[in-house]
Amino acid sequence: MALIVQKFGGSSVADAKKIKAVAKIIIKTKEKGHQLVVVVSATGNTTNKLLKLAAEIVDVPCEREMDMLLSAGEQISIALLSMAIKAQKNDAISLTGAQAGICTDGVYNKARITGIKTKKLKKELKKGKIVVVAGFQGISPGEDITTLGRGGSDLTAVALAVVLKAQVCEIYTDVSGVYTADPRIVRDARKTDYLSFDEMLEMAGLGAQVMQARSVEMAKKFNVDLHIRSTFSQEKGTVITKEVSCMEDVVVSGVTYDADQVKMSIIELPDKPGIAAHLFNELAKKEINVDMIIQSSARDGVNNISFTISRTVLKKTLDIMNEIKKKLRAKEVFYDNKVAKVSLVGVGMKSHAGVASKMFSILAAEKINIEMISTSEIRISCVIKEKNLLKAVRVLHKKFKLNQKLAKKNISTRKS
Ligand code: ADP
Ligand code: ASP
Ligand code: MG
Repeated sequence: MALIVQKFGGSSVADAKKIKAVAKIIIKTKEKGHQLVVVVSATGNTTNKLLKLAAEIVDVPCEREMDMLLSAGEQISIALLSMAIKAQKNDAISLTGAQAGICTDGVYNKARITGIKTKKLKKELKKGKIVVVAGFQGISPGEDITTLGRGGSDLTAVALAVVLKAQVCEIYTDVSGVYTADPRIVRDARKTDYLSFDEMLEMAGLGAQVMQARSVEMAKKFNVDLHIRSTFSQEKGTVITKEVSCMEDVVVSGVTYDADQVKMSIIELPDKPGIAAHLFNELAKKEINVDMIIQSSARDGVNNISFTISRTVLKKTLDIMNEIKKKLRAKEVFYDNKVAKVSLVGVGMKSHAGVASKMFSILAAEKINIEMISTSEIRISCVIKEKNLLKAVRVLHKKFKLNQKLAKKNISTRKS
């Protein structure tokens, strides 16, 4: 008998029919003799609807009340799914994040899990029940409900798999695995059989919404294999696992995009020690995450700095930048919120040269201007105009031949 964690995303439980079908998948696993913890997201588009509702009440909602509101979505799902399981003659119990012992820090909207008290979970599992846990939520030291950031049910599932030492953590969703590009955008995108934690981490961080980046970080840290698969078919999905050398045979594993970008620039700053430190400290103090940074070479004792941020923090960032402009007597602050980021990811880049130059040449041939570039060992990202984004994703996918299976990845995973 193994302990298995299964997570079902919002699209998998979007209506009553789908909830009943999910109950069937769960019961099938249970009938194989396994113990089962199921994590579920809010149904369909519920979280977005709740966000919209709050925005109709007040411009900037209180963060504590926002978490109270958003957590209600998952609470509906756990109750409905448990009812569906019971109606199919199996025993289940629904637990909120707090009831499941998921403790977090007190940072509303993007809380971190600090620990999980497993006593109740284990007690219910021992009774033979299927335990259905609300994803995306926990409880703070002050006993307030917190949420774990968008896509946070993935994190709940991975964290439970870690503490319960699950044999496998299965992420059920509306696609049959991780594709070489978002299948909604690239029609001939291909499902990958295996990805390393680092590749998935980069892809998730660069816009491949299929897994929440923080959840992959946790899976990597605790070495928990993830199996991302479809709720609507039986086929094997994508296994995310530890890197093995043959993964490097595939140079590029995927192309990702992120339209949630703003390029912010400050012009003619004094060119002396401590200026960049001051600027980015002020942004960090307000929890603004900066992505790419470019500083131009100095001339006449001044230079320019550009960086990218998420569109959600544009107003906050602009206010800070205008303060800095005044204080440092810079010439101008301006931004462009019609930009986007396109990236190539692959562990094979470590051992294969020329990927960057090929990427730049492909974009140039399409007359797509590159405004910023950043790289890591296994990634190349370019900021381009948003109007060129879809063209860029599709042409890079095509020219790197990502629709073709180039090398057979013959990887045996430890657990699945
Ligand atoms: P869930 O509701 O199950 O959590 P999400 O909507 O968060 O599902 O993630 C699944 C979606 O991620 C898919 O419908 C797909 O359009 C999108 N996606 C983006 N990039 C990729 C990719 N490279 N591979 C697979 N899916 C991707
Ligand atoms: N319901 C939350 C969201 O939409 C959490 C999740 O689905 O993982 O972001
Ligand atoms: Mg998701």
